[in-house]
Amino acid sequence: MEHCHHARFVFNIGLEQRSMWRPSKHDRGTHPELGPLDAARVNTATQMRELAQLRAELDWLRAGSSVVQQAALRDLDRAFANFFSGRAKYPTFKRRSEREGSFVVRDLTVRRLNRKWGVVTVPKVGAVRFRISRLWAEIEAASSARVTHRNGRWHIAFTTPAAAKIIAGTAAVVGVDRGVKNTLATSDGRMIQAPAMSAGEQTRFLALQRRLARQQKGSARRAQTLDRLAVLRRRLEDRRTNWVEQVTTDLARTYDVVAVEDLRVRNMVRRPAPKPDPDQPGAFLPNGARAKAALNRAILASVWGRFLTRLEHKMPEGTVLRVDPRNTSRTCAACGHCAPGNRESQAVFECVACGHAAHADTNAAAVILDRALSTQAPGHGVSGRGSPALAGNANQPAA
Ligand SMILES: [Zn+2]
Repeated sequence: MEHCHHARFVFNIGLEQRSMWRPSKHDRGTHPELGPLDAARVNTATQMRELAQLRAELDWLRAGSSVVQQAALRDLDRAFANFFSGRAKYPTFKRRSEREGSFVVRDLTVRRLNRKWGVVTVPKVGAVRFRISRLWAEIEAASSARVTHRNGRWHIAFTTPAAAKIIAGTAAVVGVDRGVKNTLATSDGRMIQAPAMSAGEQTRFLALQRRLARQQKGSARRAQTLDRLAVLRRRLEDRRTNWVEQVTTDLARTYDVVAVEDLRVRNMVRRPAPKPDPDQPGAFLPNGARAKAALNRAILASVWGRFLTRLEHKMPEGTVLRVDPRNTSRTCAACGHCAPGNRESQAVFECVACGHAAHADTNAAAVILDRALSTQAPGHGVSGRGSPALAGNANQPAA
């Protein structure tokens, strides 16, 4: 736990220092979109020296591990490198949280105890047992590891060289639509649901959240409620992780090209509009239903993000295509006609121009695939309309 606090303290103080720095023109870093920026001159080397000074002054910091604290500065450096290359937003301060904290261990020493357990040496703590959840050879090859305390449980994630890409070699292409009703719908007619909390779990989760809001900060009862919430989160987290791994491996093995919407996931989450009750015009569904819907949307949003990240990890570069998501649900996959009237209901798509009918999500997935293929540079080797995946879909009956 102390390591988490120290890492956070060093990270934050380093960030503050870099943010305050106002250098002369030629000292500035350059962001591809925002232009020249500050924060390039103060660097890891200068900050490492200052960390040493700070440790000399602060007893409590000196009591911690210098390895862990230096790793926090490298963390910060990577955050800035990602920012300057346009891959990430400006780094933010790490908040003190009861539930989450992390630190990085370098120059790993690991030892295998038996089939299931290994031991890693954490500075100033000593040998820490961990459950082996990946190939031992990969763990031994790791150069560093991030230790995270989340939902009342410790995790250790080993940083290893990127895994080999999966190459399907089937020449099959597919479009994938992401939705709330069907988590994933493919252009060849498959619907894939992500695991969600059961109705009972949802009720319990929301009840615990309400209880938490009434409880005194720092009280024993509050801690108990937090533990119970953590158990629920953990259970779902494990299920979701398995699902994302399975479904991305499956797609990578089946298709050579996967097209998805380039969707700002967050925009979808930020819409808590009241739902009118279909049976009572003018009335709205009770609050509980809305809270559950909001909870589900938030959970799905995180699944989508992880799905895409893992898919791009597993498939060769340039084979996961992101397309403009506008009007994918209103456009006909057969003739390209785009009209709001095409969408008969949540589930049924029927084109007002050509009469093409399909499950709405399947149609959207086919539109996504079409868009990806038509914006591809010619000679890429994938054909559009005539591909087996798409041809099969055009005759798909409405579900
Ligand atoms: Zn049509």
